[in-house]
Amino acid sequence: MKALLDQNRTLQEKALSGLIKASKTLGLDPTRYENALKTIRPDLFEKRKRSAKKPEKKISSSSASSIEKHPPSRKRVRLLSSKVEKGGLKLSFSGRVDKKWIRHFILERRGRVLYVYDFKNVRIPFSIKRFKGGSFKEIRIAQFDPKRVRVVIEVKKAYNPKLEFKDKTVYITLPYSKKRAEKATTSERKKRGKQSKKVDATIPKYLKRYTVVIDPGHGGKDAGAVGVKRRKEKDAVLAVAKRLKKVLQKRGFKVYMTRERDRFVSLKKRTHFANRKGADFFISIHANAAPNRASRYKSKGLETFFLSPARSERAKRVAALENSADLSDLNRYTKNTLLNVLNREKIIESNKLAIDLQKQILSSLKRKYRGVVDNGVREAPFWVLVGAQMPAVLIEIGYITHPTEGLRLFNPNYQNLLAEGIANGIESYIYHSGM
Ligand SMILES: [Zn+2]
Repeated sequence: MKALLDQNRTLQEKALSGLIKASKTLGLDPTRYENALKTIRPDLFEKRKRSAKKPEKKISSSSASSIEKHPPSRKRVRLLSSKVEKGGLKLSFSGRVDKKWIRHFILERRGRVLYVYDFKNVRIPFSIKRFKGGSFKEIRIAQFDPKRVRVVIEVKKAYNPKLEFKDKTVYITLPYSKKRAEKATTSERKKRGKQSKKVDATIPKYLKRYTVVIDPGHGGKDAGAVGVKRRKEKDAVLAVAKRLKKVLQKRGFKVYMTRERDRFVSLKKRTHFANRKGADFFISIHANAAPNRASRYKSKGLETFFLSPARSERAKRVAALENSADLSDLNRYTKNTLLNVLNREKIIESNKLAIDLQKQILSSLKRKYRGVVDNGVREAPFWVLVGAQMPAVLIEIGYITHPTEGLRLFNPNYQNLLAEGIANGIESYIYHSGM
């Protein structure tokens, strides 16, 4: 067990270092991977800190290149006041806010539309502030985490907010209100136009509705793994997939399934289907099996895979298991094709999605169940993920061969918690990526 853990850690460490490097080359934010690496190898960062940061004591946790690019904007500012005036939300800060500090995304949920703005490097002296209004339902401002302030504008109908920056203030337009429009004279409007530089908020006019393709593994002649009491993987994963579909639909997602009943679907058709539907996410659901009868008590836990050509021995074994269903497809893909389809950015995104999913699934299950085992996020060459043009992952929801876990996979409560966890993971990814 110890040896296995050590081996896992080395693999994780390798994967994370690779991702940090790749993120940097692609101009993406490597912080999350660095933090993850920090938890398994804190010593690496101790050394780095000492060698890299001698002259600039004031500046914390930023690379040399970003210091050069934005010298004044690295310090933190405080949000001094927030007011609703002239059809907008006026936020006044103690210093200048860099446009790059702001991330925004939209959520649509049960007839509400939420415009979310996260301000990095900002602190507020209060815990939460709420505004109720006519043209909007509610505005909430809170310290989201030690480094970020989150502003949520909740409205009944989608609109097109604009951000305006002026010295130390940021102005976010609110939905159009007739009363207010009558009050505001033309001169007032002109004045505002001159004083502040308008910045396009790059929020799409239409509301983005995310599409998820759920792929319950196996089906029909292909039973997948067979576990405790001869129960089949294909049935467990279909049940979970159906529950996930319901949960996601309730939250406003558009959902398709590669199969809705017990039928065989080739691996290639599964991702083709997702591409055709223009899916934003491809979630393949599987259950794992112990390599032999003797190890069925030992093998348990959940893991989330993302597609990658890198092969560890363990990943190879799981991949061989999952890939075996459709050998004819496997032959069709040459190594070259695989490398062509895989682009690094997609791997990074799929990895991020896998991290969020794994985390949220575990926390959902642990709320009600004991002995839930985290086998982590791994890369593996799953053929079902090859060719997907969106972030794609494969979740092994547990070992169907384990005496306890195998039965849980058929328990409706357990299945619901799995579904909730997967949905939370997708939402968490959307939040993190600012999609
Ligand atoms: Zn499977």
